[in-house]
Amino acid sequence: MRGSLGPRLLLRRLREVMAEPIGAQARLDKIVVQIAFNMVAEVCSVYVLHADKRLELYATEGLNREAVHLTTMRLGEGIVGLIAAKAEALALPDAQSHPAYSYKPETGEEIYQSFLGVPILRGGNTLGVLVVQNRARRIYSEEEIEVLQTTAMLLAEMIAGGELVSLFPAGSEVLRQSLSLKGEIIADGVGLGHVVLHEPRVIVDKLVAENIDGEIVRLDEAIAALRESVDRLVDRGEEAGPGEHREILQTFRMIAHDRGWLRRLREAVSTGLTAEAAVERVQSDTRAKLMRQTDPYMRGRLHDLDELANRLLHQLTGQDLVASNENLPENAVLVARSMGAAALLDYDQRKLRGLVLEDGGAMSHVAVVARALGIPAVGDVTNISSLVEPGDAIIVDGVMGSVEVRPGPDVEAAYAEKARLRARRQEQYRSLRDIPAVTRDGVAIDLHMNAGLLLDLPHVVETGAVSIGLFRTELLFMVADHFPRPSEQYALYKSVMDMVSDRPVTFRTLDIGGDKVLPYMMRLDEENPALGWRALRIGLDRPALLRSQLRAMLRAGAGREVRIMFPMVAEAAEFDRARAAVDHELAFLTQHHHPLPTEIKLGAMVEVPSLLWQLDEIAERADFLSVGSNDLMQYLFAADRDNKRVSTRFDPLSAPMLRALKSIADVGQRRNIPITLCGEMGGSPLAAMALIGLGYRGLSMSPSSIGPVKAMILALDVEAMTRFLGDLLRDASGEPSLRGRLEAFAAEHQVPC
Ligand code: PEP
Ligand code: MG
Repeated sequence: MRGSLGPRLLLRRLREVMAEPIGAQARLDKIVVQIAFNMVAEVCSVYVLHADKRLELYATEGLNREAVHLTTMRLGEGIVGLIAAKAEALALPDAQSHPAYSYKPETGEEIYQSFLGVPILRGGNTLGVLVVQNRARRIYSEEEIEVLQTTAMLLAEMIAGGELVSLFPAGSEVLRQSLSLKGEIIADGVGLGHVVLHEPRVIVDKLVAENIDGEIVRLDEAIAALRESVDRLVDRGEEAGPGEHREILQTFRMIAHDRGWLRRLREAVSTGLTAEAAVERVQSDTRAKLMRQTDPYMRGRLHDLDELANRLLHQLTGQDLVASNENLPENAVLVARSMGAAALLDYDQRKLRGLVLEDGGAMSHVAVVARALGIPAVGDVTNISSLVEPGDAIIVDGVMGSVEVRPGPDVEAAYAEKARLRARRQEQYRSLRDIPAVTRDGVAIDLHMNAGLLLDLPHVVETGAVSIGLFRTELLFMVADHFPRPSEQYALYKSVMDMVSDRPVTFRTLDIGGDKVLPYMMRLDEENPALGWRALRIGLDRPALLRSQLRAMLRAGAGREVRIMFPMVAEAAEFDRARAAVDHELAFLTQHHHPLPTEIKLGAMVEVPSLLWQLDEIAERADFLSVGSNDLMQYLFAADRDNKRVSTRFDPLSAPMLRALKSIADVGQRRNIPITLCGEMGGSPLAAMALIGLGYRGLSMSPSSIGPVKAMILALDVEAMTRFLGDLLRDASGEPSLRGRLEAFAAEHQVPC
């Protein structure tokens, strides 16, 4: 090596400096001297990045000492600013000819021609920049760059580990600044607590290798074990059939066998790092590079790389791969890149205050479970798992879809108040549980509950819901790791009915396809999945699948009333075919002397607009109808419910939607057939008020909505509402939304909405 005296010697010296009983500034001053000496450089400087994105010269050997704590530059300004902004090393034989060069006269650096700077990175975050400079024009070798990067890593550990902490007076602000992050709402509620990383970062406390050859052997062994475990995973995935999961595993395998990755790891070890420190170094570097990529494919690869590096670290250190219940604090907020539904269920629910995910929005499986458990959760929070440290104070706001990391005292106090208020309101709602939902003018409204997991069911009693108005069976299928066999389905449906024994359950047959994908089933590539092969369409085309579900439901409901409804009915004839499938199964069960349900009621979901013009036909065939307002809205306005750009563009409280809803309520009265509504809008007190005004007398909603909707009902005068809404809909004003008018009505009549 031309310049450096050897990385191992340098790392040893730095360790010695760290052990000396001296102040932090003196320590840093000694560190830069050691680095300059070892790298045979005239200059070595450390710049630290502040929370306000300013870089400050913290220590230097070679430049004017007076410039320390005086020279600053913005992120992106000058070469040092550029290195910090890009988080990439830069080696320049002639720094002054670089377009980004910015002259700082107080440093006296104009006499130095060559420049090598590397970012000081931790977990992909830039903490500062480490620089060496030489008077003579020279080209820094790959090895020298590598050595400086390793040294920078050591510095990062010192800064994060507190060994240099007194240099950062304002509570070492570099790492500890408060952050306010936005995400996607997954589950309602506000939770305050402390960060628990679902996949804890491995703490690498031994950075410097004592025996490099030994470390190379450790690295090779760990890689071999990793490859073996990934191969095993791929083989197991292969058995399960094609799917997204398998693609991820294939990517893992590709990376695990990637020569470049292995080479970089080995190089890092040969600079004097332990195997685990090398993995962290290489990964930190890769993260920093990939995080700046805008291409989603490349960013996706970052996750794969991260996960694999993490596995390798665990392999090397023997530390646990996921957080365990034993050391879960009382008020844990789980932070994860991504998480499976089953993993969330493994945690002690009593201790969970919130969940924050980097990947995974409201439609993910873990989201479904978080909602069922009532854990406030926010998803799609960019980079969260790198921005927090275990134990950090954190607030999850599942109402606004935001996350406050290390909040200041004001923010924390405001949220604590918000959480208290919510708790008080919940208490009030609970006190309404046994009061019948009857309006001021004596109209009874049935409040039903939506469910989809066994976890949801205890809420029936807590909320006083009259029945499960919608049981989304696909959720049971989505959290399973294989397609449930008929016997398993039977047991599931039976448990559901047993758990709410005194109240009816309306099972909806599998509503898969579109956005709801079963992990173990083939994903179809459709141009327009929402308009594609889904729900009842699959059931009718694959009768064995539908019939096995129906048989399990009918068997589970022996001796009771069984209610079944079909999703995505687009024409009356489809309902006839679905009924025929039920009859077929009934005949089978009778023939085999199985006990039968006492009564069977079959319903259709009204969520495809074509049914609006077949209302009489469908009402004649079905025993009940249930409006799926989420899909009805999506199809009526041709606005994808999962596409953020358009999903809130139109208001369900608009004349077209309310008129459509009224025509459905009217057919119920005309034909004397029960009609409920089970989409999200039924759970909003304002929308529920309007629905009652349209003639709806049954609404099914998520458990947390029942209290607020009941409070609204108790204060409502239906006759006044009906008259008001009738006038509003008759008057073709062309307003895009009637929300404001309805709010004004609620305010005037003191209806809490
Ligand atoms: C709906 O579409 O309104 C509905 C209740 O069903 P899902 O949200 O499951 O599609
Ligand atoms: Mg639907």
